[in-house]
Amino acid sequence: MTKHRMATRRQRRARRSPAEMGQALFSAAAPLIERVRDGIRARPGLSAAAVGLVVAGLALGWFPGERETAEPAAQVIHLPLAASTSESSVSLAAMAEAEEVAALTAEEDLAEAPAERDWTVVTVQPGQTMERIFRQVGLGPGLLHRVVHLDDDTRGLARIRPGDQFAFDIDADEGFRALRAELDEESWLFVEQGADGLTSRIEPRALDRRVVESSGIISSSLFNAAKAAGLSDSMTMRLANIFGWDIDFALDIRAGDRFALVYEEVWREGQYLRDGPILAARFTNQGETFEAIRFDAGNGPDYFAPDGRPMRKAFLRAPLNFTRVTSNFNPRRFHPITRQVRPHNGTDYGAPTGTPVWAAGDGRVIRSAYNNVNGHYVFVQHGNNIITRYLHLSRRDVRQGDRVRQGQTIGAVGMTGLATGPHLHYEFLVNGVHRNPRTVDLPDADPLPSDLMDSFLAAGRPLLARLDYVDPGSPLMLAQRDQTGCEDDSASC
Ligand SMILES: [Zn+2]
Repeated sequence: MTKHRMATRRQRRARRSPAEMGQALFSAAAPLIERVRDGIRARPGLSAAAVGLVVAGLALGWFPGERETAEPAAQVIHLPLAASTSESSVSLAAMAEAEEVAALTAEEDLAEAPAERDWTVVTVQPGQTMERIFRQVGLGPGLLHRVVHLDDDTRGLARIRPGDQFAFDIDADEGFRALRAELDEESWLFVEQGADGLTSRIEPRALDRRVVESSGIISSSLFNAAKAAGLSDSMTMRLANIFGWDIDFALDIRAGDRFALVYEEVWREGQYLRDGPILAARFTNQGETFEAIRFDAGNGPDYFAPDGRPMRKAFLRAPLNFTRVTSNFNPRRFHPITRQVRPHNGTDYGAPTGTPVWAAGDGRVIRSAYNNVNGHYVFVQHGNNIITRYLHLSRRDVRQGDRVRQGQTIGAVGMTGLATGPHLHYEFLVNGVHRNPRTVDLPDADPLPSDLMDSFLAAGRPLLARLDYVDPGSPLMLAQRDQTGCEDDSASC
C-alpha cells in the first residue's frame, strides 16, 4: 500500500506560476466568502476565529497538480438534512440580531411555559451583573439575595455570562411570580413565588440527537468541499484530525480526494443546537481509502479502523497545523543560497513565521541549539530507533534533555539559518536513515482487545453501510466487504 502511495505521489509534481496561483485563489475566494457569510447567518455560534480558519483554509486551494484539475465546479453529493433546519436557522439568526441591538428583549415564549406564564426574556450583555438585570426588569436586590440563597441550584445564578438568557414572569399587581434560567444544556431551573415563599425546581429539556450523513469530493480545497457539503469548520477540523495520523493534510490533499461521514446533530425544542461527534468517517486520498469508526473501549471514545486498529499512531504525520501551510517547496530545487542541487532529506512546510511546531511523538529532546545552516533547531529521540528533526525555527520552546509529549509545542516556524522564506524543514530518521516523513509507515498503537471486537463490529457495520450510502463511488462497498469474509467477525477483514 505504501509503495503504491509513494508511486502515485511521485507522479504529481508541477509548479504553478504566481499569476496562475493568484488567479486560482481569486476564483476560489469569491464563492467561499459568500458561503462563510451564509454560514454565519445559519449558525450565529460560528466565531470570527472559525471564519479566519476558513480563509486560512483557502491556502489549501493551491494544488501542486495540473491546472485542469483545479476547476472550481464542485461535485458534491449532499443528502438532505432534517427538514426543519431552515426554519430554526431563521429564529436563531433573529435571536443573534436582537442581542446586538438591545440589552433587553421581550418575547412571548408560549411553547415551553405553563399557559399562565408571561415571560420576559433577558439576554445578558457584557459587563452586566445579575443585580443590574433585576433592576432593569423592576426587581430589587432583596429579592435577588433571597433567590440566590434559596438552595444549591439557585446559588449558580450569581455567576452569569454574556449571552445567558433569563426569563421573568412579573405581574403588574402581584410583582415577581417566576424566574426561568438555563441550568445547563439539558435543564431549566425555575424559581417560583408561591404562597409560602420561594421554591425552585429543575425541569429537563429533551435533547434530540439526529444522525446525519454528508459527503463531498474535493475540487479546490478540503474546506471548500466541506462547506459545500454543509459541514461547519470545526467539523472539518475534526474530520481532518481523525485521519491526521495517516494523511498529511498540509501537503497531500488532491483534487478528486473524497470524504464521507456520519455524525450527530444535537437539537433541542425544534432548534439546531450544535454538532455532535463524528460516528464514522471515510477519506480517500490519492486513491487510498481510510475508514474510522468511533468506539469506546473503556477509556473514552476514540476512532478505530474497521479491523480494530486505532487511528491514533505513535507519530503525527505532519508536525504543524495544516490550515497554516500555504505551499509546498520543491524538494529537488536548486538551492538558492548554496547554488547547488543537493539531496533533500526531509519535508518543507511553508507556513507563516510563528506557526507552532509540535513534537510528532512522545520523546526526549536530544538537541536544542542554533547554527548557521539549521538556524534554531530541535532534535527529538523517540524510543531507541526514531529521531525527528525540526529546522529553521524562529524560536525554541524546549531544552536539551526535556521530555516532550506528542502534539506539544516545541518551537515555531521561522527562517533562521539557510532559508529563503519561513518554513519548517522536518526530518524523520529510522535507525539513522532518512525516511520520507509523508509516507513512512508509522507504528500502530495497540489494537482493540479481541473480546471487544464483536461489539465493535456490531456498532460499526450499520455506520459503514451509511457511509456506503452517501459515498457510492467508493471501492469499499459493504457488499464487497461481506463477500471478502468480513461476516465471520475476524479481525482480518
Ligand atoms: Zn528543507
